Amino acid sequence: MAISLAQVKDTILDFFFPPFCVSCRQNGEWICADCLSKRRQESTWQCLVCDQTQDRHAICPACQHKQPLKGIFISGHFDEVMQRTVHAFKYQSSSVLAKPLAHILADHLMSDPAFAALDRALTVLVPVPLHKSKQHLRGYNQSELLAKALLPLLPGLTVANAITRTRATASQMELDRHDRLQNMKAAFALVPTVDLKEKTVILIDDVATTGSTLFECAKALQPASPKTIWAAVLAHG
Ligand SMILES: [Zn+2]
Ligand SMILES: [Zn+2]
Repeated sequence: MAISLAQVKDTILDFFFPPFCVSCRQNGEWICADCLSKRRQESTWQCLVCDQTQDRHAICPACQHKQPLKGIFISGHFDEVMQRTVHAFKYQSSSVLAKPLAHILADHLMSDPAFAALDRALTVLVPVPLHKSKQHLRGYNQSELLAKALLPLLPGLTVANAITRTRATASQMELDRHDRLQNMKAAFALVPTVDLKEKTVILIDDVATTGSTLFECAKALQPASPKTIWAAVLAHG
C-alpha cells in the first residue's frame, strides 16, 4: 500500500503532538469515543424562522418561502463536548480539529436522505467567511478548514469561497435575536467570479444559534442564482 505525504505528515505530527481529547483530556483521539457517545441525537429541531413547528432541517415548509434557505443540516446540540471542542477549534489554534469535526458532520450528512439525494458533482460547499482582520488574527477561517476537511469524506463535492464579509461585526454572543439580525444585516457580499448558477450550495459554519448569519449569507448568494441553498453546521445552541 502506498503511503501518501499527508499520512506521513500526520504520523510525524502525532509523534510530536500526541492527540488528546480536547473535551475530557484523555489521550488517544482529539475527540474521544466516550465523549462522542455522550452526544444526544435529535431528529427534529424547532423552526428557526417561526419557532412554532419542528422540522428535521430547522426550517419548516411554510417558512422555506420566507427566506432563502431550504434547510439546515445540524449534527447535534451545542452541548458541553461540542462547546469545548469548537472553542478549541476557534480560539486555541487547534486547526487539527478540522478533521475529526468534519467526520462528525460528514456522518450526519450521509445519514440524511435530503443530502443523499443531492448530485454531489453539482453541489458546492461555501464556508461562512470571517472578516479579513479576524482571519488574519486567527490565522485561518475555521469554517473553511471544516469545508475542506469534508472533501475527502464526501467525494464529488467542491469548495468555493463565494462570499466575503464586507465589514467587521460585533460578537453575536451577547446579543439577543433581534440585535443579532441587525448586526449581520448586509455584512456579506458575493464574489462575482464564482459560478454557482443552478448549483446546490451548502453554507458551512461551526454553530448556528438564531441562524441570522446563515440567513444573511444565503441572501448574499442569491444573485448568483443557485438552484437551492442549504446550510450545514456542527451544532445548534
Ligand atoms: Zn473525551
Ligand atoms: Zn417555520
